Amino acid sequence: MYEEIKFVDYGQKEQAGYYGVTYDKEKILKEPKLQVILVNHAHCDPGWLKTYEQYYDDQVDHILYEMKDYLSSNKEMKFVQVEISFFEMFFRKLDAQNREDIKLLIKNKQLEIVSGGWVMADEACAHYFAQIVEMFEGHEFTKNHLEFVPKNHWSIDPFGLSPTMAYLMKQAGFQNMAIQRVHYKVKQYFAQNKLFEFKWKQLFEGDSNRTSILTHMFPYGSYTTSETCGPAQDVCEEFDFRFKSPFYDEKYQRRNRFSPTINEAAKRIADQFRKKATLMRTNNIFVPLGGDFSFEKKSEWISVFENYKVIYDQINSMPELNMEVKFGTLDDYFTINKKSIETENTHIPSVSGDFFTYADRPFYKRFDRILQHYLRTAEIVYSILLSTNDVPQDFDYNVMVQARRTLSLFQHHDGITGTSKHFVIEDFKNKMVVAIKNCYQIIEMGIKQKLNILDGLSIMESMSVQNALPASNGIVNENNIIIFNPLTREQDEIICIKINIDGAKIKSIKDLGEFEQEIHPIVIHEQDALRIDENAYELCFKANIPPLDVRSFELVESSYIKYDVSKVSKKNVELRENKFFQNIEERPSIDFDIGNKNKITIDSLTGYILAINSQKVKLSFAAYQSSYASGAYLFMPSGKSSILPALKNSYIVSEGNLIQRVYVSGVDNVNLLHIIEVKEGTNYVEFENRVDLQKVDNFEMTMQFDTDVKNKDTFYTDLNGFQIIKRKRFSKLPIQGNYYPMPSTIFIQDSNTRITLVGSQALGCSSLSDGGFEVMLDRRLNQDDYRGLDEAVTDNTKTQSKFRLLIENFKTAQDDTHSVTSFLSLDAQKANQELHYPLILIKGSLQKDISTMTILKKELPADLHIVTMRSLLAKEDYDDKNSKEEVKRSSKNEIALIFHRFSTKNYLQIDTKYLLKETS
Ligand SMILES: [Zn+2]
Repeated sequence: MYEEIKFVDYGQKEQAGYYGVTYDKEKILKEPKLQVILVNHAHCDPGWLKTYEQYYDDQVDHILYEMKDYLSSNKEMKFVQVEISFFEMFFRKLDAQNREDIKLLIKNKQLEIVSGGWVMADEACAHYFAQIVEMFEGHEFTKNHLEFVPKNHWSIDPFGLSPTMAYLMKQAGFQNMAIQRVHYKVKQYFAQNKLFEFKWKQLFEGDSNRTSILTHMFPYGSYTTSETCGPAQDVCEEFDFRFKSPFYDEKYQRRNRFSPTINEAAKRIADQFRKKATLMRTNNIFVPLGGDFSFEKKSEWISVFENYKVIYDQINSMPELNMEVKFGTLDDYFTINKKSIETENTHIPSVSGDFFTYADRPFYKRFDRILQHYLRTAEIVYSILLSTNDVPQDFDYNVMVQARRTLSLFQHHDGITGTSKHFVIEDFKNKMVVAIKNCYQIIEMGIKQKLNILDGLSIMESMSVQNALPASNGIVNENNIIIFNPLTREQDEIICIKINIDGAKIKSIKDLGEFEQEIHPIVIHEQDALRIDENAYELCFKANIPPLDVRSFELVESSYIKYDVSKVSKKNVELRENKFFQNIEERPSIDFDIGNKNKITIDSLTGYILAINSQKVKLSFAAYQSSYASGAYLFMPSGKSSILPALKNSYIVSEGNLIQRVYVSGVDNVNLLHIIEVKEGTNYVEFENRVDLQKVDNFEMTMQFDTDVKNKDTFYTDLNGFQIIKRKRFSKLPIQGNYYPMPSTIFIQDSNTRITLVGSQALGCSSLSDGGFEVMLDRRLNQDDYRGLDEAVTDNTKTQSKFRLLIENFKTAQDDTHSVTSFLSLDAQKANQELHYPLILIKGSLQKDISTMTILKKELPADLHIVTMRSLLAKEDYDDKNSKEEVKRSSKNEIALIFHRFSTKNYLQIDTKYLLKETS
């Protein structure tokens, strides 16, 4: 489609053949009656300019109370509600009678829960795990308390729309979707091709229609009343009665400029409805009435209802209009629409792909994935306990529910996207800190319970530092390390732990004398300088951990167990030798290799990677000096990025048999720490970056790779960590038009080679030149971009990002000219999974050798992944509170198990012995 759209005047709204439509007044009389459904809604963000709780108390509480009152006393009035995060809070505070009244409104079809997720989730950055958690959380409530299962989806404000959401909705039993925010050039194309209703088909679906879902795209620019009745905004505004007194008030009619008679008013709005209908394939439209936080006051309900009642009674009585207008729910619309499609045999075309724009605030996106990891593990550990009857009596299930609801809340389209006020983002973050601690608590409790440990144990990570991600903390006194594998495949992993004891007493791992182990320096980066910790070091060893199970290791003092000391060298760093690491050499100015199996070539001047096994992958950092238009929502650079100088970089190299690392410090003013790590037995190179943009202005920093791969104008990115979509770079688009979300993956390929970068957080990415690709690391923008936030993005903090890079060769030459999707290789899939769900290290003291805790008899096939194993929430008694005045929550004795099976088609280096057999 992008090939066909010209994109001239990228920033200019073009309306030809779309806004200026006409119709034949005679011809419409021969058509079936036009059905117009007026759908009342209030768009309520659970966090944007105010926090979730502030919005509830100040506004949403009133909206929902007024809704209940007005709908109960007026059977013709209807309403759709989206966010269960708000609705649950409202419902929970009602008394028993009022709860019954709400259920009656739903039963009478006056109130429809649309989507029914915890929030209206973002679709660009959200990982599919979190999308499922968010949806599950809402639907569990509607099922438990409303005895209602939503079937129509409503996504009107997320900035970009993903087919992954369409897929998940379809799998959740949904029948229809309504979507809104799509680039107006794309909307124009849809208008000209009558595509506003289509079957959204998955890229991987091929010829079948198994995953298609009927999708309605709002034709015009917004979801507020002023842009939904038809093409003429001024007319729609006249009929926005929310803040006007009733239409039949004579004084009001005199004050207002529009037609004084009901008859003319009816014709005027009916004309808009008719024009809107020309864009659709059936004789049905729906007209959303409302906007942000609408229907807060009783007067709005009265005004909207009474005015439209007068108008639609009039329209319905005028045969020359051949139209029937009434209030309805989204389901009312889709029901009549379905009937029309069936009786008139209307062809609804299929469309595949996504609708994307892009925004960023990376620090919090990494936080989101860390919570995701711990929540998934906590769910699995709890489910293991539940399935073996090992949940302790005094366990407080509220801590699990809080963690789920926090991750769900953050998926809100102003949460994870970074488009809310700084104090609101802080509020989200504080909730996430509590949620991560809750997950720690569940995991620790589960392992203690399962392994029959009496003493305390704790995850070797803490969240003690303000504005920092959880960081690993060193071993102090405990003798044991317990390692949990959250994946369903056995993992051979090199583990490094910080030893904080006097170097004279080297400890090593019990019974692992045969195992290789080695020590590496702890490199500290402070004030743009590198140094080595003189009192501690890292001990690295190789561990094999069974799937969903633990292994424990003991630290013993021993003089006879051998370990190797890594070879340390440096460039431009003042380093003193210490008792652990001696003979530290200065690197000569010639490029050098690290790695054993794979040769990773490092540029001796910068410390950055140049090549892997002689294949060019030249890394550099660059920055866009943005024009004064970029902000929280918009990326609008003034021109190409410029490479940041790196010749003054300093670095430390630590080379062992198991691990080789390069720590690079460089780039003035951004305090860059760049770590390259190569582990024995892996086929990827890992990069970690820490940048701090607090000292620069209007600066958008990227990590770029330059390679010899001939990808021309094609590259691939993932959608929600779930599937891959092929992208094409267009020279007719500005830089930002070629930027896409990278929830976890970007790769480029030619007929022989593929280079894949997987990341542990959602960022923006692109391939702006043949053989090149780049990722946005962090942005600092010193102005608001006039999208309602009224704030600059200057709350930058030290931002961490992690990536793994793989180079893979096709066994036979590939031709991808006609594909629209692709698939990660098993190796890349594994690298991505392990990056998202790393082993969990726990310290403690064991009384005895511990046993197993897994519920798996053997590892699962490589193409099968447990997305989640989630205990179900029992229906709460909202009047039964615990000592903290919270509603008491408990789990049912039931577990939901969700699998993801990766496609095995097009796999590189296919490893068939571990794959499930194809089933029909
Ligand atoms: Zn919104």
